[in-house]
Amino acid sequence: ARISEGEALRKKLHNTILELKGNIRVFCRVRPFITDGNEYDGSVVSFPTSTDLVGRGIDLTNQTQSYSFTFDRVFGPNSSQQDVFVEISQLVQSALDGYKVCIFAYGQTGSGKTYTMMGRRSSEDEKGVIPRSLHQIFETTRALTSEGWEYSMQASMLEIYNETIRDLLLSGRPGVGPETSNSKQYNIKHDQSGNTIVSDLTIEEVHSQGDVDRILRQAEQSRSVGRTQMNEQSSRSHCVFTLRISGINKKTEQQVQGVLNLIDLAGSERLAKSGATGDRLKETQAINKSLSALSDVIFSLAKKEDHVPFRNSKLTYLLQPCLGGDSKTLMFVNVSPEASSAGETLCSLRFAARVNACEIGIPRRQT
Ligand code: ADP
Repeated sequence: ARISEGEALRKKLHNTILELKGNIRVFCRVRPFITDGNEYDGSVVSFPTSTDLVGRGIDLTNQTQSYSFTFDRVFGPNSSQQDVFVEISQLVQSALDGYKVCIFAYGQTGSGKTYTMMGRRSSEDEKGVIPRSLHQIFETTRALTSEGWEYSMQASMLEIYNETIRDLLLSGRPGVGPETSNSKQYNIKHDQSGNTIVSDLTIEEVHSQGDVDRILRQAEQSRSVGRTQMNEQSSRSHCVFTLRISGINKKTEQQVQGVLNLIDLAGSERLAKSGATGDRLKETQAINKSLSALSDVIFSLAKKEDHVPFRNSKLTYLLQPCLGGDSKTLMFVNVSPEASSAGETLCSLRFAARVNACEIGIPRRQT
């Protein structure tokens, strides 16, 4: 009886917080177990409902306790890319209605951020949020032409590596990798109508799915890839895809301007685990700083504070006009189910809970 009272209280608090925090949503996604030649070491997470996640023995200091977290949605390893997209298609649609939208993927390296955002190019079923969103936008805008709507769309794609911006659509850029320096400065400014302007950044007009496919291919090639002991392909940079949408209705003279930002964040792993030294240590520190700047901003927006610390990182300054106000934010927290990732998984869940402002933290006894 005590547990169910606790549960009821937790749910009630969660609902109240949902009302208070407005336009921020947090979805948790647990990827399938990857064997990779390793023995199955047990899963540390389970999902009693579509919004609850229970982590077992993931507090390394106290193996007997388990923790439960409530998010707006929890996707288990059997959820497909389509299952995930169904839950966000409305949000993507709101960019066409004139909203500023940000969708982030947060998590340790190897937890499925890139799979969630980009997916596998080779398989139609496994395409991720970015290609699916653009597909939906093109379908919708095509359908709306019969009602008098005309749209123009501009895409850009950049990465932020060690607090330095790099253009992923700079054509003819030869090298890839963190060491390749880019001579341009890419200063960030905000204009009077609340748009972000990044000087010198390539902006591509997109008219069709073909244009988008070309852009994504180019960006994938230029994306800098570092190496840590954890994952050779680990991404050490934040990757930001931005689509600006301007629509005008020739019949009603209505106008809309929306923005869709889709962001694959750098791996959130802590120092000890990545075994980083030298340049890698510097990277990890820059990543940690900007990820905590992001959570500070979101947290401060959720609490409706007067001063929001946008200027503490390039990422938050870049996205400033698209965070807060009547913009909409969704964060995927991607986690790995393996026991060997238990510590990082708990850290990611706590980060997400802080963003979600819903870590009610009623520990449950293990059964
Ligand atoms: P990250 O971007 O967080 O470093 P990845 O997206 O590269 O992680 O995922 C690590 C590996 O797990 C990749 O091989 C990816 O294809 C696979 N993977 C991740 N999530 C899923 C999923 N939901 N279903 C199937 N495979 C997945």
